[in-house]
Amino acid sequence: MAKVSILIATANPHKAGEIAALLPQTGAEYKSLADFPALRMPEETGATLEENAALKAVFAAKAAGLWALADDTGLEVDALGGAPGVYSARYSGKERDYPANNAKLLRELAGVPAVKRTARFRTVAALASPSGKILSEEGRLEGKIGFEPRGGNGFGYDPLFIVPSLGKTLAELSFAEKNRLSHRRAALAAMIRHIKAILRAGR
Ligand code: IMP
Repeated sequence: MAKVSILIATANPHKAGEIAALLPQTGAEYKSLADFPALRMPEETGATLEENAALKAVFAAKAAGLWALADDTGLEVDALGGAPGVYSARYSGKERDYPANNAKLLRELAGVPAVKRTARFRTVAALASPSGKILSEEGRLEGKIGFEPRGGNGFGYDPLFIVPSLGKTLAELSFAEKNRLSHRRAALAAMIRHIKAILRAGR
């Protein structure tokens, strides 16, 4: 079986590591953006996670001339009408300032009792071919927003996101534990059948 190259098109090293650990290792050669230093990923201008995942994957696939996999994730908090959602990365106004984003989330939820702090992470993964064909899948993780940050692992909203069945935040789980139950894992697990079909076709 010929090896097929797939570009994991994320500039976030935390996510690249999580994604690479979840995909099938036989028949595929995974590339990262470090292999394409001239490639600058586009702004995430979509109005939905679906649009952002697709625009990133299509851009990277065309630029690199390879299949490219991108994902977009949002935290949807029920008491906030689904916010921060597609704006999760820049909720506080500063791009990817995790402590500021978490502080804003706690401020917005001040006075909201535990039973009403339900939330989910939703990941949309998109796999695009160099000619622009798009395959996409979704994964979710249901949980609750805590009252203060807990744990030092993971990234983003992990210290505030409690997994009810474990009574722990995602930041209190090891890398392997988070990867067994995460929203990103669910989206990528659904994506694996598409990747296997591409590997079988050999292109
Ligand atoms: P992205 O656009 O997919 O990079 O994700 C948007 C934002 O959602 C990130 O900047 C993080 O704040 C947050 N996020 C994404 N995935 C996770 C996760 O697995 N845990 C915690 N926060 C996450």
